[in-house]
Amino acid sequence: MSSVITAELRQQFNAKAKELNVLPIKVTPHYEKMVQAEYEVLRRHGGPLYRVVYPTPDRLEIQIPHEVPDFVEDQSNMPPGLANVLIHKYQRRALFLVTDKCVGHCMYCFRQDVLTDLHGNSLPPLEERLNGVVNYLAGRPEVSELILSGGDPLNIPFHHLDHLFERLTQQTEVTDIRIHSRNLVFAPQVVSNKVAELLGKHRARIYIHVVHPYEIEDKMVAVVKQLQDAGVRTYSQFPILRGVNDHVQVLEKLLRRLDDLRANPINLFIPDPISYSAIFRIPMKRLLQLMDELYWSTGSWTNGVRLVLDTPIGKVRREDIVAWDETTGQITFQREGKKVIYHDFPSELDKPGELDTLLWRG
Ligand code: SF4
Repeated sequence: MSSVITAELRQQFNAKAKELNVLPIKVTPHYEKMVQAEYEVLRRHGGPLYRVVYPTPDRLEIQIPHEVPDFVEDQSNMPPGLANVLIHKYQRRALFLVTDKCVGHCMYCFRQDVLTDLHGNSLPPLEERLNGVVNYLAGRPEVSELILSGGDPLNIPFHHLDHLFERLTQQTEVTDIRIHSRNLVFAPQVVSNKVAELLGKHRARIYIHVVHPYEIEDKMVAVVKQLQDAGVRTYSQFPILRGVNDHVQVLEKLLRRLDDLRANPINLFIPDPISYSAIFRIPMKRLLQLMDELYWSTGSWTNGVRLVLDTPIGKVRREDIVAWDETTGQITFQREGKKVIYHDFPSELDKPGELDTLLWRG
């Protein structure tokens, strides 16, 4: 399939991305079709779906102070012997990095650091990693919820997924398994009947990552229904990204589509201030204003949706702000007695997405 960008641009970006520990371009044929449909309307690069998977010219050009490779400090929450395998930050919940592979790469991905690190070193076989996770969890019966993430956990072969569920449910005290997946957007066909039945049998929950209403198309809708019919509970969460969904009308449309899908929206994320993330970031004031507009303009069913920032001390919200220095842009959040500092995105660099472009279908 032809691409909306040239082979030369792809090559140049990927070479630089490798140097800078940024994920290279990787687009599935399914998503490429959606980007092409967008390009046919806009007749230029830089529409919301384009920005999700392809670099704009400034993608690796802007760096602002206080960007870090890993804001949430995933690496420091990995137990000894389980580096790049398990993240254990909350008492009752842990996250298993089942694979380092995604079928497509998101330019805004918050886990670039861990994923590019993994790409440089081949992962031990799944069974070996699973042994480590099961042993670790066996000594911690308080961990009742396990999130399968990655990469995309739905990328692993069916027999591996089946085996993983069997061991986790039989050999640990984990009662709730949650899957974070963007495969439903990038390649919905990977969710077969067998996968849906397996997830349904284990009463798994899926958090679907969708960042724009146009990412929800017929095939994906059918797959979500298939999962629900099998007994899987579906939720959603997504970041608010500049040039992708940073307008109240886009957010409203997306939340409505997710509600129609019965993929109950839970968290809207503030983008992590990680290296080379500037093109997606939004100043805090505008984020809060977007949320207020959203609450005012939509029905009360959206009131439960929370704007959160994932940090080394856990997820924090606007009510956790205890200090805000508008001169330096330094915002302090406090949670359970612990503080974390977030450096705001400078408002002079903020160019909000234009509605005609963001909702190019009209
Ligand atoms: S699918 Fe998820 S983990 Fe993979 S690149 Fe996108 S955001 Fe990152």
